[in-house]
Amino acid sequence: MDFVVLLGPPGAGKGTQAKLLAQELGIPHVSSGDLFRDNLARKTELGLLAKSFMDRGDLVPDDVTVRMVIDRIGHPDCEAGVILDGFPRTLGQAVALDDALVAAGRCVSVAPLIQVPDDVLMDRLTARRICRQCGAVFNLVSNPPEVPGVCGECQGELYQRDDDNSETVRNRLYTYYRDTAPLIGYYFARKLLVEVDGQQSIDDVQTALVAAVRSMPGDCQ
Ligand code: ADP
Ligand code: ADP
Ligand code: ZN
Repeated sequence: MDFVVLLGPPGAGKGTQAKLLAQELGIPHVSSGDLFRDNLARKTELGLLAKSFMDRGDLVPDDVTVRMVIDRIGHPDCEAGVILDGFPRTLGQAVALDDALVAAGRCVSVAPLIQVPDDVLMDRLTARRICRQCGAVFNLVSNPPEVPGVCGECQGELYQRDDDNSETVRNRLYTYYRDTAPLIGYYFARKLLVEVDGQQSIDDVQTALVAAVRSMPGDCQ
């Protein structure tokens, strides 16, 4: 298995599942959203550029996004495979990823699509809380921390993302259907798409996801 491309709308559980899958498979989790947020926290030029798009729930332009992710997946820790979360998000990004992987003799092995209906996504995202220190993902309703406001993994402080308000979430969902949903057809046509019911418990989604990944051939022929 080489690159796992996690597909699904915002709030489907990609980040939650990617962290578990990374442990299960022993390969890194690369989240484009986390890379942007890390740049923003460090006030890099890239982070400041991305901020205005992220605040509106719009996509950051393809050229900067592709450069950032391709750079990250070229690091040595990515040699045995990668779980991509939140990238690609446009057909242009998907083509750029394929071009870069072909040039490196590598490939996308599987593209699991985590499906969750919109009304559930809205509820999940507005109740999402993140650990400032380790990035662990919680939910006030479905996955609450044991101590309110405190991360159960590292005791870090939990916060709500600026873009997890109902107005911005609506635009992120709109953007998903307009720009990202076409990727479902892109990976279906390449026989890489596997659908997973994202409304099961976190553990059951993980079991289905591991089965989906293992159902695909491991090599890049
Ligand atoms: P994404 O990365 O796709 O935006 P997250 O992994 O951040 O999604 O999950 C969105 C929210 O839904 C979080 O608050 C998370 O705790 C919660 N969540 C994730 N998986 C499930 C699930 N299977 N059932 C209920 N809530 C979930
Ligand atoms: P979600 O929880 O909605 O999946 P992410 O953390 O993946 O959120 O993304 C947050 C924001 O970062 C997006 O709304 C967008 O502005 C920007 N972003 C993340 N990944 C990409 C990408 N592949 N292309 C363009 N913009 C991106
Ligand atoms: Zn933490």
